Amino acid sequence: MKQEKTLSDTLENNATVPYRKSLCDDDECFEEERANEDSVIANMSEAVHGLLHGIGEDPKREGLLKTPERVSRAMRFLTKGYRQDPRELLTKAVFTETYDEMVLVKDIDLFSMCEHHLLPFFGKAHVAYIPDGKIVGLSKLARVVEVYARRLQVQERLTQQIRDIIQEVLSPRGVGVVIEAKHMCMVMRGVEKQNSVTTTSAMSGEFLSSQSTRNEFLRLIRMNAS
Ligand SMILES: [Zn+2]
Repeated sequence: MKQEKTLSDTLENNATVPYRKSLCDDDECFEEERANEDSVIANMSEAVHGLLHGIGEDPKREGLLKTPERVSRAMRFLTKGYRQDPRELLTKAVFTETYDEMVLVKDIDLFSMCEHHLLPFFGKAHVAYIPDGKIVGLSKLARVVEVYARRLQVQERLTQQIRDIIQEVLSPRGVGVVIEAKHMCMVMRGVEKQNSVTTTSAMSGEFLSSQSTRNEFLRLIRMNAS
């Protein structure tokens, strides 16, 4: 019991701390947000309670007593990207710079959830762009992946959204995004071979018009690939 409480507290902290950072500057605002969050959690918990009934479980047995609330808080954490603005995130970190070669951040860990089954898919994202007078803080590229990944997604759309927001905010000479991911809805249900990896790509500008640029990008993300 003691340990359960600790886990629940951890999830609660995960769910509320980033929330405060992103939306609230003062305590009054924070109290209001927390009241809203509590009512969202209450509604979601009721739904999870129904889900437990539906699968033939007894939501009143000891091990499941706090499950509806825990699931709800975990879900809020895993979908916190809905409450974050990727445009704002990038815009705040743009710098003027004359560097005009490819910038690549590869092997960005990615955890998302498929919108068809609410099951996880996870893997790596590789994000590249060729600046045209403006660069962005490197960590922000990984953060943008995270913001879009922490929503209900299909891998194809996720890949394009990352490309589009970088193209829009930086107006670079081109953007390339490749995502490689395993989908639990395929692996667990045995629809495909268990180790199958889905690869998607989205490109713009010189990554589309120049084969040598595209080849360089693909060669760089294959280097030291695990
Ligand atoms: Zn799925």
